[in-house]
Amino acid sequence: MPSLSKTILNLEESGIREIMNLALGMEDVIRLEIGEPQFDTPEHIIEATSQAARDGFTKYTANLGLLSLRETISNHVNNRFNLETSWENVAVSVGGVGAVSSLIRVLADAGDELLIPSIAWPNYKMAIDCIDATPVFYKLDPNNDFLPSIENLESLVTPKTKVLVINSPSNPLGVVIPQKLIKELVEFAKKHDLFLISDEVYEEIIFEGDHISTLPYDTDGRVIGVFSFSKTYAMTGYRLGYAIGNKEIIKEVGKFQEVNVMNACGIAQKAAEAALKGSQDCIREMVAVYKDNMEAATRLMDEYEIPYQQPTGAFYLWVNIGCKDATVFAKDFLVQHKVAIAPGNTFGPEGSPYIRISLASKKEDILEGIHRLAVMLGKSK
Ligand code: PLP
Repeated sequence: MPSLSKTILNLEESGIREIMNLALGMEDVIRLEIGEPQFDTPEHIIEATSQAARDGFTKYTANLGLLSLRETISNHVNNRFNLETSWENVAVSVGGVGAVSSLIRVLADAGDELLIPSIAWPNYKMAIDCIDATPVFYKLDPNNDFLPSIENLESLVTPKTKVLVINSPSNPLGVVIPQKLIKELVEFAKKHDLFLISDEVYEEIIFEGDHISTLPYDTDGRVIGVFSFSKTYAMTGYRLGYAIGNKEIIKEVGKFQEVNVMNACGIAQKAAEAALKGSQDCIREMVAVYKDNMEAATRLMDEYEIPYQQPTGAFYLWVNIGCKDATVFAKDFLVQHKVAIAPGNTFGPEGSPYIRISLASKKEDILEGIHRLAVMLGKSK
């Protein structure tokens, strides 16, 4: 038998999925490892889903999505961020993950360098590894509120650097990048002639202040925003997201989607249209629950004196447990206390002393998980 692709054989598996797979094989586990809303998809979206199936949206669509959805998305982002996009600036993708991986494929070649945060969602590195390009980690320093530093970024740019990836609100840190820094990051990308992928899939999940999109600061079509229906509307299983960017880039994303997935599911696309056109109250209701979970969790952490990063967006708690190897800790915690959490080192080299707890789980599970964490760490109130 010939050998398999070295690129894929060398691909590191996501540490979150590793813990999830172990947890799925056990009984009575408290599941705090995965970033998945606890809510059912809102009823009017479910209704649109079944209607779409009956209306025949069971066929292929254009690679970049249904025209009606692309127009709806374009109107939505124009209103939300004061933009002047048209449907040609929209690529409907298979989840936010599909937009990120397509963009990395479209914007870079093997050997190019892409700047990604450490600490960050592991899929950026995996998508870069898949095309034999080089991920270059820029450090998010706890002493700088886990924000990107332009000075640090400057020191990492080489003639091979092609793309800067940013994520706000961020997974796993819950950090929201302020307006001034967003502008500086766009200027930095321009100064060094880089593309900027701005992952904004948690745009609606904000506990304090406002989400600042990178798109309005783009002056010459180098910024591509990534968005998703997964977290905003509790639609993770629909696998639907989108990219907003200049027409030339979006057209190439369509070409790559033809090879990779052809198009996102037509039924899911009609459901997404209903999500954007319907009442947005469901978002406010869900975010209120995440905020309540966050406040209850951080109160309990304070009582146990377990240090964490105060999140202002997304739905995670980044907890400093001071361990050497977070994967070993996560496995031991799962076996000994039946709680699944995400090990910090899966989010980049800087992540090892940390774990991530999902605040999108049920409140009683989150609090019980923290009580058991305190026992594991030998802490008492
Ligand atoms: N970007 C970030 C930062 C994420 O955390 C995730 C999922 O966890 C995604 C993108 C992709 O989500 P989806 O593919 O479900 O839209």
